[in-house]
Amino acid sequence: STFQDLGLNEDLLHAITDLGFETPSEVQEKAIPILLESETDLVALAQTGTGKTAAFGFPMLQKIDIDSRTTQGLILSPTRELCLQITNEMKQYGKYCKGLNVVAIYGGSSITDQAREVKRGAQIIVATPGRMKDMISRRLVDISKIQYAVLDEADEMLNMGFKEDITDILSHTPEDKSTWLFSATMPKEVATIAKKFMKSPQEITV
Ligand code: AMP
Repeated sequence: STFQDLGLNEDLLHAITDLGFETPSEVQEKAIPILLESETDLVALAQTGTGKTAAFGFPMLQKIDIDSRTTQGLILSPTRELCLQITNEMKQYGKYCKGLNVVAIYGGSSITDQAREVKRGAQIIVATPGRMKDMISRRLVDISKIQYAVLDEADEMLNMGFKEDITDILSHTPEDKSTWLFSATMPKEVATIAKKFMKSPQEITV
């Protein structure tokens, strides 16, 4: 299939052309139609390098209201490097989505600067769990209107001891959001998190 077949809009297709992506990867082919067509939770077993960032990123970019400055999408990832990488990808994918603001929140860098960026209005926040929790507790960020939450590399986040932070962060988000969990492996801890936070998720494996 083509990206057009998957139901992506003109702004995203334009960016995809610029990026030189010719055909959707397997995880994109499986995840994008599901996420575009329904407000479902999703568990996706996918390794890095499979194109999973676009698999959740394109649907999130298409579904949020870019005319609003409210934070609607939250992507949690285990490391600063990954957080910055996802932020960059989201900015490229959304380059023709006029008014889009994607902000990265991660430790080891000025919290004041990050708070200032958030305050300008970010529809999408990409964050590492520790700094995110910190900013929530200091009321520097409001995720009470989140509609889409992504747990990226969920197995890695749990390995790194972020279970409590993730639980705390998700407790500040609405009950009726959709949660999309991506993980390379499905150990018991990930299954437990999925069971605790998700409502009959659709499942895909690549
Ligand atoms: P990820 O698994 O999300 O880290 O993506 C791995 C790399 O593949 C990234 O550099 C993407 O820019 C690139 N990529 C993602 N989707 C596609 C695609 N459909 N065709 C070509 N490259 C892609």
